[in-house]
Amino acid sequence: MNQTTNIMGIPFPNITMDQTVTILSDVVDQRQSELFHVITGNPEIVMSCQKDQALRSVVDQAGIVTADGAGIVMVSRFRGGQLTERVTGCDLLFRLLEEGSRKNWSFYMLGAEESVSKRAVEVIAHNYPGVVVRGRHHGFFTTDEEQSIVEEIQEAQPDFLIVALGAPNAEHWINKYRHQLNARIAIGVGGSLDILAGKTKRAPAIWQKLNLEWLYRLLSEPSRWRRQLILPRFAVRALLFREHR
Ligand code: UDP
Repeated sequence: MNQTTNIMGIPFPNITMDQTVTILSDVVDQRQSELFHVITGNPEIVMSCQKDQALRSVVDQAGIVTADGAGIVMVSRFRGGQLTERVTGCDLLFRLLEEGSRKNWSFYMLGAEESVSKRAVEVIAHNYPGVVVRGRHHGFFTTDEEQSIVEEIQEAQPDFLIVALGAPNAEHWINKYRHQLNARIAIGVGGSLDILAGKTKRAPAIWQKLNLEWLYRLLSEPSRWRRQLILPRFAVRALLFREHR
């Protein structure tokens, strides 16, 4: 069995959510000094990688790329790949908080609006009491402010740096500072802090099960329609994509 499934040139490891959490737990235990970058590979990232060489090289250097979205898993199925389930940034964050509450993992939360960031940390303290939040910062900072944020993260030395700056900004940001961050693992998680803080709602389980989370998101945030046009474009291109051998 292949260990990865190639989607438009991006190798996705054939791993489930449970296996992803186990891998990350091992990374925390091994206490390596090098930052382990988790890319939650959604269709937008895969499409951007076709043109954006800098992003492609960030993805190539990542510790792991997860199948973020039903579209990725469906394309894998059509092309005979072996991805079995989605590992979205949001689901992964919730799983890591659960596990982190048992194992006292530390986190630094970067991104989202100030009120969302503050609320997200309150929710973590309430729902995941074993988690140690070593710091947080909203995501609307200037370039001049970046160095002091990096220094704050460096001092915090979190097990997990959660970056909610939207894709692919989060991925570029993590890569830019990867040698200075002093975190064990960094993950770009899109709008997950908004969900954690209760600002936006996750699609009900049945919609998720039917692979219709994208439709729920479109109906609840119609202003996203332009961004969501990428989904059918991704599906067509990914299904027709010819791998170079
Ligand atoms: N965001 C931010 N700074 C910015 C732009 C966006 O902190 O300059 C946050 C925004 O508040 C939201 C997240 O990044 O919490 C992006 O969410 P979105 O749903 O757009 O991301 P996606 O899941 O599409 O990557």
